[in-house]
Amino acid sequence: MSDLLDWSAASVPGGDKRPPGEILGDVFGFSAFRPGQEEIVGAVTAGEEVLAVMPTGGGKSLCYQLPALMRPGVTIVVSPLIALMRDQVSALKALGIAAAALNSGNDYEENRRTLERARSGELKLLYISPERLSSVEMIERLRDAPLAMLAVDEAHCVSQWGHDFRPEYRLIGEVRRDLGIKQTVAFTATADRITREDIAERLFVKAPKVFLRSFDRPNISLAMTARQDGRAQLLAFLKAHQGESGVVYCQSRRRVDETAAFLASRGFNAVPYHAGLERTERDHNQDVFLREDGVIVVATVAFGMGVDKPDVRFVFHMDLPKNIEGYYQEIGRAGRDGLPATSHTLYGFGEIRQFRQWIEESEASEEQKEIERQKVNALVALCEAPRCRRVVLLDYFGEASEPCGNCDLCLGGVETFDGTVLAQKALSAVVRTRERFGMDHLITVLRGEASDKVKTHGHDALPTFGVGKDQSRTAWRSIFRQLGVIGYATPDRERFNAWRMTEAGWRVLKGQETVMLRKDALSLKDKTPKSGQPLPTDYDPKLLDALKALRRTLADERDVPAYVVFSDRTLMELASRKPETLDEMRGVHGIGERKLKDFGPTFLEAIRAYLAG
Ligand code: ADP
Ligand code: ZN
Repeated sequence: MSDLLDWSAASVPGGDKRPPGEILGDVFGFSAFRPGQEEIVGAVTAGEEVLAVMPTGGGKSLCYQLPALMRPGVTIVVSPLIALMRDQVSALKALGIAAAALNSGNDYEENRRTLERARSGELKLLYISPERLSSVEMIERLRDAPLAMLAVDEAHCVSQWGHDFRPEYRLIGEVRRDLGIKQTVAFTATADRITREDIAERLFVKAPKVFLRSFDRPNISLAMTARQDGRAQLLAFLKAHQGESGVVYCQSRRRVDETAAFLASRGFNAVPYHAGLERTERDHNQDVFLREDGVIVVATVAFGMGVDKPDVRFVFHMDLPKNIEGYYQEIGRAGRDGLPATSHTLYGFGEIRQFRQWIEESEASEEQKEIERQKVNALVALCEAPRCRRVVLLDYFGEASEPCGNCDLCLGGVETFDGTVLAQKALSAVVRTRERFGMDHLITVLRGEASDKVKTHGHDALPTFGVGKDQSRTAWRSIFRQLGVIGYATPDRERFNAWRMTEAGWRVLKGQETVMLRKDALSLKDKTPKSGQPLPTDYDPKLLDALKALRRTLADERDVPAYVVFSDRTLMELASRKPETLDEMRGVHGIGERKLKDFGPTFLEAIRAYLAG
């Protein structure tokens, strides 16, 4: 990627002395911090060791970029992927910040110059891969550079517990000691406790200050539907999302190829992406997706990591992801700009059976298998959620929340009915068998099947025996899972998943609480979802088109993705406020001093020309 613009204005060699809130507006062009950013920026600026866990799209980069501007010297940013570095560096340059990357994609001379700029203190941010950073040569050359701090991006790569372990990350701690860097700050979107502890131990000398951001991404609407005719469901979905950029995930390469070809035959601008394609074709398709508006990429899970496109408007799953972590990560690729985005997932019981079979057939230890089984159960429970899907999702990540108003359950797209009597039957089976049995046996009792186990325990003599004959085994499984999700009873992992009652469950048995369960036949209703953030709605659509075309030209001239020039939100605000002077442009979302200078006049001219007719 070429030098978009040369650095200068925003980089003050000794460190920018303005308060963070001012730099945020003047340099980055943002009117407010996103949740959590301010506290983290404060801690980083105060020199603390920080480990921040923020969901994808939460705005992690700003948390080290902004403090890096405030101090003398260069901040080293360790990042695992060249593509990721490239995007970040070109975005920073567009803001007028002295940033560069050292990587194998650059030629020798370019890298040499970059190192010189780091050593002279002229650079503020230096992006580098862990392999390169830990080479003996690099350490020698950086030794006398004015190093301000070490920022580690995608820090979960340091841990074997994480989903993306990279042995090179293990060397970072040592490099830090060798270079005598005083402060390390680390960022990740992976939440679980074990990974977090592992990161803390491997990257830091003493325990870092940990920041845990909510995993909620309220601007992404959630929906999951049982698969009937996948292609028809996909087409119906796309019809409501014409002209938007999005990702359609499929489970296998073959499904990707078939689906992409199918969409292309229906006139969609769709490209395939999976690890089986030639490298050049894959890169080309990814590039088309990044640069052009309204492209659909049909992909396996190989697609996504390091794709930092903020304006992906939807994610559609043709197939169910393998677990909730994967689901969350994939839908999280939508709406990173904070604007309304849509996720829609199809699921079928065939694939769930398949997941279960893979687990049983795998070579994993029994302990590992049990973890995997639990994960599948949690996933199925999310599919069948009888109440706000987001509450169920966040609960899985250990976060309590209120019904969101932006999922299929909240919007009434899923039919529920009064299932109190069914719930009472299920719960009484739990109680009568003294909370000592798993779901399968409980269902056997409910359905009045005289198995050996039933006879051995004398459960055929219980009053509950056979009271659930009217429901199939499959239906009862769903009922149990739903009761588990709502929290009326839970399988106890410590006791071979024997179901235990909760206080809420006892209230149901005593008739003090009504239980709403969902019907399995889903009927989707068409309602407009509430959005996460208010967007200008009073913009002039023709002007917006004109501004988008201008953005396209400017981005092409500079060989960068469109959003590096201005985001969609910025253009919408411009098309709504219609500023006539540079001064009036100040304060529009995404327009800081640098962009005001670089692009302000051109956009003003375009707005003026448009208004003049
Ligand atoms: P991630 O946490 O996934 O690394 P990024 O740092 O890439 O997220 O930020 C995601 C998007 O949010 C980027 O387009 C970034 O410019 C934007 N962003 C970050 N902070 C703010 C803010 N305070 N206000 C508005 N947009 C922001
Ligand atoms: Zn909801």
